[in-house]
Amino acid sequence: MSAHWTLHCSACDYTADGDTLATVCPKCGQPLLVEYGDIRPSRESLDGWSMWRYSWVLPLHEREKPVSLGEGGTPLLESPRLARELGVRRLWIKDEALNPTASFKARGMSAAVTRALAQGVPGLVVPTAGNAGAAMAAYAAAAGLPARVFAPETTPKTILDTIRALGATLVTVPGHIGDAGKQARAFAAESGFFDVSTLREPYRIEGKKTMGLELAEQLGWRLPDVVVYPTGGGTGLIGMWKVFAEMRRWGWLDRDAALPRMIVAQAEGCAPMVRAFAAHADRATPWENPSTHASGLRVPGPLGDRLILRALYESRGDAAAVSEDDIRRDTATLAHATGVDAAPEGGCALAVTRKLVAEGRVAPDAEIVVFNTGSGASYRA
Ligand SMILES: *Cc1c(COP(=O)(O)O)cnc(C)c1O
Repeated sequence: MSAHWTLHCSACDYTADGDTLATVCPKCGQPLLVEYGDIRPSRESLDGWSMWRYSWVLPLHEREKPVSLGEGGTPLLESPRLARELGVRRLWIKDEALNPTASFKARGMSAAVTRALAQGVPGLVVPTAGNAGAAMAAYAAAAGLPARVFAPETTPKTILDTIRALGATLVTVPGHIGDAGKQARAFAAESGFFDVSTLREPYRIEGKKTMGLELAEQLGWRLPDVVVYPTGGGTGLIGMWKVFAEMRRWGWLDRDAALPRMIVAQAEGCAPMVRAFAAHADRATPWENPSTHASGLRVPGPLGDRLILRALYESRGDAAAVSEDDIRRDTATLAHATGVDAAPEGGCALAVTRKLVAEGRVAPDAEIVVFNTGSGASYRA
């Protein structure tokens, strides 16, 4: 059966059949994206409770069974208390901690491991700042595939324990995720294991784009004015921006409805995308000595830099960084005001929202969705 999707390079004219296990573009090394041609899926065809209720618009064959642990379908919680405190009309928290292994990495890994298993890979490998490793270990176990995870030795201990508990081989390395990535690629080359690093394959974006589908469905098939996303590699931001355009094409949104402004939240100790956006650049230069306790944001040189920047410019979005103290303060604010056990990355997104409202860069009458991307519990020793 031929696939209902094809693969296209995000930077050059390379294209490939959907039924190949894709990595980056063989011509230019940039990320590949999945495209669905002129399919006309109907909103009425959605089925099931996990993110695979959107399987018609994901890289999955008809009657193929995905590798799933019940990812997606997370709550969108309105918080009048936070809206009042920040001085905005309406504010929601999309709580991604309620995914398998307690982060939104589950969505991308479910999609990537599904394609890798279908293509008969011998095993899976990933470099991680933490949560991607835990998610990959879980989906590898579900698929019955061996897994190897390369993580900085500074990764929160609870997350490292989770990776081991799920049966993956864990290798801790000095340095940051970029250093782990070099070792993971060397291991992939010698073992033939499939490398599911951020944007080195096109499927994790497809899994993470389901966050954008859920936002629309949960709000009654409309979108908020502003989406604030704690950004490391940018998979979710790129995926949501991609699916907003797809939904428009499929007639799932009102054609004239404005799409949200996409906002990148980063930490002052590692803010390559904020720096590139402020310089109106189309590429980011790697951040030196990246440091933040919000470990998911410690990504000094994202491979998807041009796709992140494209989403920011096209959506007339914004990007801002906050201090470690601001992140700690608003992780606590988020938890105390809503009952969500927020991760520091979620605290960072709230702190950036507060800053942009205070500076007049987000309008007080805006409807805002702030992403909490992981669980506070993962970061407590
Ligand atoms: C990975 C991660 C991020 C960053 O996600 P990207 O889509 O790669 O930008 C943010 N928060 C948490 C908790 C993460 O694990």
